[in-house]
Amino acid sequence: MSLQSDQFLNLATSIYNDHIKDWQSKGKKVAGFYCTYIPEELLHAANLLPFRIRATGNQDTDLGDIYMVRFTCSFVRATLDLALKGSYDFLDGFLVCNSCDHSRRMFELFSLKVFNQERITKKVPEFYLALPHTITKEGFEWYKQEIQELKTELEEAFNLQEISSEKLEDAIEVYNKNRALLRNIHEMRISNSPKLTGSEALQIQMANSSVRKDFANQELERIVQLLKESEPIDTSNKKRILLVGSVVDNIEFTQLLENSGAYIASDFLCFGTRNMMDDIKVKPNEDPLDAITERLYYRLSCPRMMDDHNRRLDFLKDEIKRANIEGVLLQRINNCDLHGCDNMLFSHELKELEIPVLNIDREFYQSDTTRLQTRIEAFLEMI
Ligand code: SF4
Repeated sequence: MSLQSDQFLNLATSIYNDHIKDWQSKGKKVAGFYCTYIPEELLHAANLLPFRIRATGNQDTDLGDIYMVRFTCSFVRATLDLALKGSYDFLDGFLVCNSCDHSRRMFELFSLKVFNQERITKKVPEFYLALPHTITKEGFEWYKQEIQELKTELEEAFNLQEISSEKLEDAIEVYNKNRALLRNIHEMRISNSPKLTGSEALQIQMANSSVRKDFANQELERIVQLLKESEPIDTSNKKRILLVGSVVDNIEFTQLLENSGAYIASDFLCFGTRNMMDDIKVKPNEDPLDAITERLYYRLSCPRMMDDHNRRLDFLKDEIKRANIEGVLLQRINNCDLHGCDNMLFSHELKELEIPVLNIDREFYQSDTTRLQTRIEAFLEMI
């Protein structure tokens, strides 16, 4: 069975979707955000639909290039480009944290160049969240304060009565269930008789980040059931790959790997495994907002956390064993220093496992596919 034409996965092919339309038709709000360290559970408890900003389908950065030099990440420029073209006009709120310097710049650019355009008649509240680049006790206290302030700002901006502990606990339950379902699907992907492709797994993640999670959970439960009842896909002539690095939000890239002979058995990506690990455990008498903050801060990190590289390396090593990986593909979008540093270190450190590793640079939208495909094919043949 192929999931390719599944209604839920189709949500990954566009930015705006029918679920958002339906949600907003009831007078409810959507909050777009960059990126991993925004407390989604808090937004959910505020009755917002958290939408993770992506640039799926955009093939150029012409408008984005007016405001950002080409020595910046082409993913971020492509998201700005889409916003300037109007694709994000549906947002009712906007949040940015300093994940990386490129995406952090979106706070000013959306404010100055997107939300002030004549066609946007509503006021879009904007929120900025600062977080430390290292994981320390003091850093946690700082982040905790930022998130507490964000809660108050959300209540004021959206005229909410208090975002209560009950609402936060409900959101935690919904998000824990969501991660458990994603892990369930992941198990069926890393299996030696897998039930879905890496491209399908990516689409599930992107769709999941574009809707309310209570709706997503119903859809994921349906997909889990479908996959359980389906036959394994044929990967007999494919090499099992672990895909690592910069954000991937279009299946053209993963399909290029698959058409070259790879089975993407697992990944370490934003729209991937990084997103499904570590549940929230609220301790007795603990403020649920603190529990949300704790998970976000101490979770399996993005490379923006400078002193946590070894934990990420350990995850890769475990995943290589768990998913029976035959080769590791490290990729980064040009000018992405965070993944550039991590990938360079991984390429040396993984030598001890004697596993083939390919480390490539690319643009967000790959126009020169032939050259890339040749390199990938050569790598897969070498395995
Ligand atoms: S790919 Fe790199 S530079 Fe681009 S948004 Fe992600 S972390 Fe930032």
